[in-house]
Amino acid sequence: MSTIAAVSTPNAPGGIAVIRISGKDAINIADKIFTPVGSKSVKDMEGYTCVYGIAHDNGERLDDCILTVFREPHSYTGENIAEISCHGGLYVTKRILRAILKNGAENAEAGEFTKRAYLNGKLDLTQAEAVMDIISAKGERELKMAENLREGSAFRKAKKCSDMLMKILGDLAAWADYPEEDIPEVKPENLCAELEKVKEDLLSLTENYDCGRILRHGISTAIVGRPNVGKSTLFNCLSGCERSIVTDIAGTTRDVVEESVKLGDIVLRLADTAGIRQTDDIIEGIGVDIAEKLIDSSELIIAVFDGNCPLTEDDLKLIKKLDNKKCIAVINKSDLGICIDTSEIEKNIIQIVYLSAKENDGVERLQSAVESLFEINENSFSSAVAVNERQKKCIDSALMYVESAVSALKNGEFLDAVNVLIDEAEQNLLSLTGEKVTDAVVDEVFSRFCVGK
Ligand code: GDP
Repeated sequence: MSTIAAVSTPNAPGGIAVIRISGKDAINIADKIFTPVGSKSVKDMEGYTCVYGIAHDNGERLDDCILTVFREPHSYTGENIAEISCHGGLYVTKRILRAILKNGAENAEAGEFTKRAYLNGKLDLTQAEAVMDIISAKGERELKMAENLREGSAFRKAKKCSDMLMKILGDLAAWADYPEEDIPEVKPENLCAELEKVKEDLLSLTENYDCGRILRHGISTAIVGRPNVGKSTLFNCLSGCERSIVTDIAGTTRDVVEESVKLGDIVLRLADTAGIRQTDDIIEGIGVDIAEKLIDSSELIIAVFDGNCPLTEDDLKLIKKLDNKKCIAVINKSDLGICIDTSEIEKNIIQIVYLSAKENDGVERLQSAVESLFEINENSFSSAVAVNERQKKCIDSALMYVESAVSALKNGEFLDAVNVLIDEAEQNLLSLTGEKVTDAVVDEVFSRFCVGK
C-alpha cells in the first residue's frame, strides 16, 4: 500500500498545523525533509516520541517544527506514522506537504487515514463512523453519543447478536449434515426462544435512534401563527440575529426564511412562515399556503399566540389544524401581561410555554418543552448507543429476517428455509460492523470524511 500524506488541521491560518504521513515509508520520507536539532536521526526515533527540528525542501529551510513518530502497528492507522506540527500558515504548511509528496508520498483521499485504520483492524466500521461523528459533534450530548459509539458499544451489541445467530446456524448445519451422529435435535421452540432474544437485543440497539438523529440533524420546525403575534421576533430571538423582517404591519413576513438555531444541545431547523390567516393579498397568499404545507411536513410546530389579547377566529382555525401534531403553543408577549384564555389551546396542544420573545425571556422553558416532547433527557445519553442511518438500515433488515425466521418456525416450515432467513440476518449484522461489507459501502462511509482524517 502506498504512503499517504495530508494536512490534518483545517484549511485556514492557525497557531499550528499538523501534517500527517502514514505508510511503510512514512518515517523514511520524514527523514528526508526533516532534520532534528541534536544528534538523533529521524530513522532512529522510537514510536511515541517527538523531536524538535527543521523542515526543509532540497536544502531550503521551510520552518521549525515538532515531529512525532508512531511505529506500526501502534498508531492510529496501524502503519508507520510521522506527524509534523509546523506553524499554522497556509503557505508554509503547503510547502512542507509539497516536499513530502516530492519525496514519495501520495495525497491522501478523504477519510483515508481512518479507512486504513479500519482495513488494518484498528477500528470496526461503527467506530470509524463514530470518529466522523466526534468531529462533527456540535454539543455535549452529541459528543457523548459519538464517544459511546467510538468506544465500541454498538459493535459489541451487534457482535453479540451476530454470534448468537452464528451459533444457531452452526447447530442447524450440524444437525442437517450429520443426522446419523449423536447431535441433539434442533427444536423449533428452542430456536424461537433464541431468535426472540436476538430480536430484543437488536431492538435495544435502535432504541435511541430518534434521539441520535435529532442530535445529528436537528428537528425541522415551523413557527406558525397569525400575523403580529411575534413569530419573527421569536425567530430572531432564537437565532440571535435580525434575519427576518420584524414590523408592526400585519402580514409582512412573506417568504419562508430558514435558519438553524440551537436550543441547548438541540438544533431546530427553523422555518419562519407568513402569518397563517385568510388573506386576499396574492403574494401573501402564497406564503400562507406554504405555512399550511409546512405544518404537514415539519416534525415540530411552534404555534405562537399573542398572550396580551383574546384568541381570534384565525387563532382558533390554526388550533384546529394542530390536532395530533408534535406541537408547542407559545403564549408570547408575557411582558405585557397575560389576558388570553388558553382553554381552547389546551384541547389540542399539551405543551404550553409562556414567554416574551422581545425580552428574550422564557427560551429555556421552550427548550424543556422540546426535550420533553421528543423524550430527550440526560439518561438517554449517558449510556446510549445511537446508531446512524446506515447502521439502522442494517439492523432493521436483520430484524426483519429474524422476525420472518420466527414466523416460519411457528408455521412449521422446513428448517432449510429458516436457515436461509437467519443467514440473511447474519449477513446484515456483518455488514453493520464491517466484518463483511462491500467495497461500495466502505467507500461511501469514508467519502463523507474530510481529507486529513
Ligand atoms: P409576526 O407577524 O408574527 O412575525 O410578528 P412580529 O415578530 O413582526 O411582531 C409584531 C409586533 O409585536 C412587533 O412590533 C414586535 O416588536 C412585537 N412583539 C413581538 N414579540 C413581543 C413580545 O414578546 N413582547 C412585546 N411587548 N412585543 C412583542
